[in-house]
Amino acid sequence: MFRKILIANRGEIALRILSACKDLGIRTVAVYSEADRHSLHVRFADEAVCIGPAKSSLSYLDIPSVVSAAEITNVDAIHPGYGFLSENAGFAEVCELSGIKFIGPKPDVIRTMGMKQDARAAMERAGVPVLPGSKGVLSGQEDALATAERIGYPVMLKAVAGGGGRGMRVVAGPAELPSLYHQARQEAGASFSCPDLYLEKYIAAPRHIEFQVLADEHGNVEILGERECTIQRRHQKLIEEAPSPCVTPELRASIASHLREAMKAVGYTNAGTVEFLMDEAGRLNFIEVNARVQVEHPVTEAISGVDIVKSQILIAAGVPLPEILGGPVTLRGHAMECRINAEHPESFVPSPGRITGLNLPGGIGVRVDTAAYTDGVIPPYYDSLVAKLITTGRNRAETIARMNRALDMFVVEGIYTTIPLHQRILADADFLAGKFDTGFLNRFKRNG
Ligand code: ADP
Ligand code: ADP
Ligand code: MG
Repeated sequence: MFRKILIANRGEIALRILSACKDLGIRTVAVYSEADRHSLHVRFADEAVCIGPAKSSLSYLDIPSVVSAAEITNVDAIHPGYGFLSENAGFAEVCELSGIKFIGPKPDVIRTMGMKQDARAAMERAGVPVLPGSKGVLSGQEDALATAERIGYPVMLKAVAGGGGRGMRVVAGPAELPSLYHQARQEAGASFSCPDLYLEKYIAAPRHIEFQVLADEHGNVEILGERECTIQRRHQKLIEEAPSPCVTPELRASIASHLREAMKAVGYTNAGTVEFLMDEAGRLNFIEVNARVQVEHPVTEAISGVDIVKSQILIAAGVPLPEILGGPVTLRGHAMECRINAEHPESFVPSPGRITGLNLPGGIGVRVDTAAYTDGVIPPYYDSLVAKLITTGRNRAETIARMNRALDMFVVEGIYTTIPLHQRILADADFLAGKFDTGFLNRFKRNG
């Protein structure tokens, strides 16, 4: 087993990984930027190393700095969390070359999953249903026009290296394709240092449903059911729940059996998420693989009883999955997560600053994952996530009642948060009935 792990991240996920290490009796090294000197992950780690200035390209994204910190502190492994270097195949490779275990899939698998058109091809070969789209990267505007013609409008142009909901354009017809093609290429080049695009059928009113995968280094794969992540703003998730109100046991079992084969076929190891869009006919179509732990992993932990982050560490240490899980996994009850962001609840404009007052809710069925504290500062340089509020109940109604109670008792003073928006969503009749698609929030906000 590892003696010491470096956590190459910040905020709530750095604390989450730190907790898993403590549970396993593994020592921890935190890394931090100058803006995060007073963060809780620094305070609670056994050792901490400053890796650079606030700007993430000079600290949390700077591979030489992170690897030097790992070498100086003599760690056995690095957990990358989500975002930052978590899906950077080059970083995973450097770790491997430095004799440090990267807690995640193998570099070549990360690379394939990160190029979304390659991931699509790999899944299609393994028999997973995939949205109709281009074969590989679009070679130019002519190729885009011909492909769109073949699969039929509307289509979506997407950055092959995309993430975080950026680099996507909906194209309604051939007239607007050329200008959107150039816009998308520019945005992709600027955001992901790779302008390449692919194209797939646009689903007008989809639900986003994703499956949690755990795969060990001995060929065992377990699927821990699905999460419903349809409540989004700007293609970014806001509320997630498990199980999905619209996935039947038959559909769940069928996708899980496809995925067990597909993940084995691509040589996938460690934790990962396979994302699907549900179309109007109720079919699930693959969109991408996130080769890392996800923000919303706690809802799956709540209904499965499996500690996903601890499992990641044990898998990386070579422990077989049957031993980690200790028997068949059964999914019980319901769980929901509200992402509490430092944002204005109406405009979504970021609202960084000092937290002058804070009350975190608790009680039965409530979990809060956060690195926030009174007088702590939410810096403007990073993601706006302040806390994840997760509730659990025997069914969806009990889970929602507990979420309402917890949101009422969640007080954050000094900055704007998305708490009031969550309260309004949780009072909406369609939301309560489980009837929604990814356009829910836009319509909801328009109707005030
Ligand atoms: P999840 O399903 O875990 O929420 P997201 O795609 O929202 O997945 O990404 C999780 C985090 O990683 C978010 O903070 C997001 O901003 C960040 N992220 C994901 N992909 C990228 C990327 N390519 N570049 C920068 N940030 C990213
Ligand atoms: P990212 O890597 O940024 O997370 P995804 O491919 O996972 O990108 O897509 C993010 C979101 O964008 C989806 O959850 C969905 O809301 C929307 N989206 C992506 N592809 C399509 C599509 N083909 N049709 C309709 N909506 C889509
Ligand atoms: Mg995605």
